[in-house]
Amino acid sequence: MEKKAIYEGKAKIMYTTDDPDVLLVYYKDDATAGNGAKKGTIENKGIMNNKMSAFFFDLLAKEGIKHHYISMPSDREMLVKKLEIVPLEVIIRNVAAGSLAKRLGLKEGTPMSCPVIEFCYKSDELGDPMVNRYHIRAMKLATDEEMETIESMSLKINDILTKFLKEKNVDLIDFKLEFGRDKNGDIILGDEISPDNCRFWDSTTHEKLDKDRFRRDLGNVEDAYKEMLHRLTGESFK
Ligand code: ADP
Ligand code: UDP
Repeated sequence: MEKKAIYEGKAKIMYTTDDPDVLLVYYKDDATAGNGAKKGTIENKGIMNNKMSAFFFDLLAKEGIKHHYISMPSDREMLVKKLEIVPLEVIIRNVAAGSLAKRLGLKEGTPMSCPVIEFCYKSDELGDPMVNRYHIRAMKLATDEEMETIESMSLKINDILTKFLKEKNVDLIDFKLEFGRDKNGDIILGDEISPDNCRFWDSTTHEKLDKDRFRRDLGNVEDAYKEMLHRLTGESFK
């Protein structure tokens, strides 16, 4: 298979494949926080995030969510449908944490009385500023119809993941999704779903099982990813 790197991001490398509609995603062990200000590696993160993302995409597909994931040719790689990414980070929050807790003066762990959706404009230079539906319309980042689809898919994904994770004794605090247009122009779910872009707290102990362990220097970073992989798939990562 002829593959050419078309983009190297902070966590993944995207390669072309023989099929112009398909990309190969390579998951790296690199970890960044604070828009690249803090850099490090988390051993075997790439393998674990690839597996967890594949698992979540399969789970969502069973509930009728359209996504980009096709197959997993190796432990660190997945084949995906090539999308024209909508340049928004779509953040869904069930419990106040991180930047929301700071911005609104809420104690971390305060439940939101309904899910909260936020949008950030994907731009490393600008530090991913928060935007609303008016900015999105004015900057023509997505149409109103596409935004309706993105919001309703995000809420449905939140319901599916929250219920599933509860059975694994994990609370889904918040998470970030990315959507894109496929070759037919339809909006589908892209990117990844892993402890890199979700906050997972143990329901009993409230222990953090996600990238906050790296962001906040809490230690046992790899162990948290291993624990999540095990709770999701039953796999014990050596
Ligand atoms: P970042 O760009 O934030 O450093 P990554 O290292 O995760 O992030 O890079 C992956 C890039 O690929 C992101 O910019 C993401 O928007 C993009 N992407 C994710 N899924 C697809 C897809 N199916 N088609 C095209 N681009 C995608
Ligand atoms: N998030 C992400 N990428 C980003 C910013 C946030 O995946 O560039 C995720 C993050 O993992 C968390 C949620 O979005 O699950 C909300 O993050 P928050 O805005 O609180 O960001 P913080 O500044 O605390 O990382």
